[in-house]
Amino acid sequence: MGRRYDASEIEPKWQRVWADERLYEASEDPADARPRFYALDMFPYPSGDLHMGHAEAFSGGDTIARYRWMRGFNVLHPIGWDAFGLPAENAAIKRGVPPAEWTRANIDQQARSFQRMGMSFDWTRRLATSDPEYYRWTQWLFLRFFEKGLAYRKESPVNWCPKDQTVLANEQVIQGACERCGTMVERRNLTQWFFKITDYAQRLLDDVGTLDEWPERVITMQRNWIGRSEGARVTFVIEETGEEIEVFTTRPDTLWGVTFFVFSVEHPAVEPLAKLGGTWEEVGPLIERARRTSMVDREAAVDTKEGAFLGVYAVNPVNGERVPVYAAPYVLMEYGTGAIMAVPAHDERDFAFARQHGLPVRVVIQPPGAEPVDPDAMTEAMPHDGVMVNSGPFDGEPSPESIAKVAAWLAEEGRGEAAVSFRLRDWLLSRQRYWGAPIPIVHCPTCGEVAVPDDELPVRLPDDADFQLGGESPLSRHPSWKHVACPRCGGDATRDTDTMDTFVDSSWYLFRYCSPGYDDGPFRREDVDRWMPVGQYTGGVEHAILHLLYVRFFTKVLYDLGMVGFTEPFPKLMNQGQVIFDGASMSKSKGNLVEPMPIVERWGADTMRLIMLFAGPFEDDIDWKLIASDPNRRPGVHSWLGRVFAAVGDAVERGPSATEPEALVRLTHKTILGVTEDLDRFRFNTAISKLQVLTNEMRSALDAGAGAMAAARALVQLLAPFAPYAAEELWRIDLGQPASVHMSSWPSFDPSLVVDDRVTMVFQVDGKLRDKAEVPADIAADDALSLAFGSEKVATAIGGREVVKQIVRAPKLVNLVTSG
Ligand SMILES: [Zn+2]
Ligand SMILES: [Zn+2]
Repeated sequence: MGRRYDASEIEPKWQRVWADERLYEASEDPADARPRFYALDMFPYPSGDLHMGHAEAFSGGDTIARYRWMRGFNVLHPIGWDAFGLPAENAAIKRGVPPAEWTRANIDQQARSFQRMGMSFDWTRRLATSDPEYYRWTQWLFLRFFEKGLAYRKESPVNWCPKDQTVLANEQVIQGACERCGTMVERRNLTQWFFKITDYAQRLLDDVGTLDEWPERVITMQRNWIGRSEGARVTFVIEETGEEIEVFTTRPDTLWGVTFFVFSVEHPAVEPLAKLGGTWEEVGPLIERARRTSMVDREAAVDTKEGAFLGVYAVNPVNGERVPVYAAPYVLMEYGTGAIMAVPAHDERDFAFARQHGLPVRVVIQPPGAEPVDPDAMTEAMPHDGVMVNSGPFDGEPSPESIAKVAAWLAEEGRGEAAVSFRLRDWLLSRQRYWGAPIPIVHCPTCGEVAVPDDELPVRLPDDADFQLGGESPLSRHPSWKHVACPRCGGDATRDTDTMDTFVDSSWYLFRYCSPGYDDGPFRREDVDRWMPVGQYTGGVEHAILHLLYVRFFTKVLYDLGMVGFTEPFPKLMNQGQVIFDGASMSKSKGNLVEPMPIVERWGADTMRLIMLFAGPFEDDIDWKLIASDPNRRPGVHSWLGRVFAAVGDAVERGPSATEPEALVRLTHKTILGVTEDLDRFRFNTAISKLQVLTNEMRSALDAGAGAMAAARALVQLLAPFAPYAAEELWRIDLGQPASVHMSSWPSFDPSLVVDDRVTMVFQVDGKLRDKAEVPADIAADDALSLAFGSEKVATAIGGREVVKQIVRAPKLVNLVTSG
């Protein structure tokens, strides 16, 4: 008696059937009239088998894709791998396995695990960014950027390990030291490739405003990263040399409070000026020290007091005052112009520096109504809202309203101009690494930078490179790879030996999915126009800044190239939380790593998916310790699937002619409505709990001898996006349906059956309960009163006295207060 649930028996069976039926392939049939929906998951990095983060993210993304099919969409749900990157190269160094081999093995492993988990991917579109047929087009796109002047080279600092003699990525620098050997990392300047994303800063910012279906915090992160500020560009002149140095300030209204001038220590003007000023002995070591500090540390914490006088003076353009010029690490070369005007009275870091170096402080904005402040008595910088003082022609002007006036005056006087500055810097894409897409440029002593002709792409990676550390990059050290004839003049030339940042690969994979195998370009415009923009993008919030920004940038460039017809790639974005353990992130080194696939083997893929989706709101973190600390205890959702099987089995046995109780019929329709609304808002956890309630109600009906066939049918369909194997088994076997539940039509509800239940209203007289009635939940106050007055029991209780007050709290209560 009773239908048993056995995941190990049903899951492999349906996995094979789905593959044979090619169930999840997107249709490109022009006669297919269904609307299209592109369900996109951030593609995984193949560093071993799937981890908990994958299990969670893809369970959510797959639920959305399956739901869309059942709602009648032609769904594109592709999968691929972000397959270039450092871990493959590290593995090659450690274990002697070539990166291509290591990557391929991990991809195959992850692909098997995805299939085991029942992911509804269209496997015909599978890609890996390290495949030559993919990176051929990554290189092709680079060349289009290069032609447009959007890819260029300039000198820029990198992290350098003096012992290993190699460039390190930021993530390879741990507290200023080399991850491998512990040597303190230095900074070195290298000529490197950049994408000119700053040309798109304003458009990237403007269009963030149209992304109203993105999480608010992601919008804020995008805005802050782009970091637009308005102010003025002002030119100071070095008194000794006549050199003009531009600075950007958001507060030109504080120009009269400038008491010194500061260069970033990396600014090219520092060395000559210090030599001229006779202070090189003091300044030189400061520059040396800063160079030895890794870039990571520089960004993190800077001692604002450190710095040295250059022995020269700068002239303030607004009042002709000469102020001393310093070099200090707290001014970053990467921001603004690498030089600042210092206003210690109104800037915290300038104030700390001034106090350390005994520099004057001059208040130029006075808080309204306050007594004038003695600069010598100040212990911190003052807020800069108030009235301008000590500011020549602008004394008495209210600030910050005066900023625009001062900027206009600067322009009129030829001393500066209003300007906008962005925090966003150009995208450094050079990596001195092997396992990436080679940059398709040839350096010729005669012709300079020459693009590799399109028909010679891809520039393939050599498969016999030496990955051991030391000296330059593996491509540069290869004995023959870089030596080529110049494509333009035929003379001896060398290939560029840098490879591209893997963020370049992942900036266009979503377009490639639309045109798998296409051979005449990265994608076909008609394909992309059919499927994109993406209907739903799902992935981790850790990619909320760079990855999303870079794809948005690529999309805008592709639009400008006439290759796509839209400027934002994914108007709808959903971020899942992280899977953590006991409040901390999971990691091998902490010993708290739980892996999903053993759980899938033990309890089934449906159980794994349900655990992830039922744990809480999708965007919240899941603490594994709290939900499944004992691997041998049956998970609650697994027991529930057992009850679903038993209930559906019993309902079938009882047959379709057995009457279903009214309460079950109503609950079924309410559940259809509720789960639909929840899925539209990605509230997977509340949808699952509604299905559990429906299961219980079915059980009660069956135990009472009633039928439950309609409820069973709805339950199985509503379950399908969450637990695809269990639902398919019940649909095709128990309910005897000929085709897959996943392509069935989403159940509909009868609106008259989902109206909220009637509620009990109580009628009081002088606070005493006299009668009750069943009323609609949305009853109006007047109707409630007439019901109360119409009650015989109420009339008796009033007994002819005057009602002096009527208290109505619909739909709960009416209280009639009498004179007596
Ligand atoms: Zn090292
Ligand atoms: Zn040449």
